[in-house]
Amino acid sequence: MRFDYNSAGMSYVYRRRVLRAGLVSLAHFVIGGPPPTEARAESRRGIFDAHLHIPSDNGENFQWNLVTRNMTEFVAYLDKCGVRRGVISSSWSNKAQSPEDYRNGNNEVAKYVQKYKGRFRGSCVITPFRIEEALREIERCHKEFGYVWLGEFCNYMTGYSYRTPEWSQVMKLATELKLVIQVHTNVAEMQYLAEKFPETTLVFPHLGGTRDDIFTRIAIVAKHKNTHIELSGAGHERVGIIEMAVEKIGADRVLYGSDFTINEPAGVIARVKNAFLTAEDREKILSGNVQRLLAGAGSPCP
Ligand SMILES: [Zn+2]
Repeated sequence: MRFDYNSAGMSYVYRRRVLRAGLVSLAHFVIGGPPPTEARAESRRGIFDAHLHIPSDNGENFQWNLVTRNMTEFVAYLDKCGVRRGVISSSWSNKAQSPEDYRNGNNEVAKYVQKYKGRFRGSCVITPFRIEEALREIERCHKEFGYVWLGEFCNYMTGYSYRTPEWSQVMKLATELKLVIQVHTNVAEMQYLAEKFPETTLVFPHLGGTRDDIFTRIAIVAKHKNTHIELSGAGHERVGIIEMAVEKIGADRVLYGSDFTINEPAGVIARVKNAFLTAEDREKILSGNVQRLLAGAGSPCP
């Protein structure tokens, strides 16, 4: 920096700079200093949640005791947690009793993607009972709404199996269209899908509830390069587990997700932030990886 002096000592310009620097220091002292470089980079790109269930217009909401009842309250809570973007799916689709139910759910997702421009990516959810209609719905969501994400699928909610010819058709279509498919599984189902569909981009939510579960699920994802682990639900709160996932799997295949409105988004973020990871790995987990998956499926983030 070059300062202008004149014969009378400090110039007017220099005095103003000194004064401004003093005021800035005072402000930092009063309200706290500027955020560190890592925090600045993070807020610029924004934390990206790979697992969000919106409150549905039909009243379906996975939250056990409702405190965020509608989309406005849903978004306000994400703001509170520092989640800037996310992949959203509809609870109505997960609980669908008919194709009409999941079509309504997928349509409401499109409505909110449109309303909150740039904030959310839509995801298509179907149930495989009437498979021809289900496959048509996946194609419709892809073509009409530009969705490149399927799921989270939860077979226990309406009682179907992933080990059926019908589910294989869903996996096959996801692979052909190069979509990301997020599937809630137990360990056996996870093993089955990872082995049977090596060409499919799979995201498995939840590290697991028990020590055995967690270690096995991390090992399965580590072995199958097409698969990813997503940190929502259970397992992340065990100190050291996120570090282990990154060590065994690699930071590129570990994704931040919250499972909000069921679970607390900020809980997972806190553990990722405190974990013994590099700033680069943290950035990948909190936003980079999910954006890379979306881009790979044909929907890059601006
Ligand atoms: Zn979920």
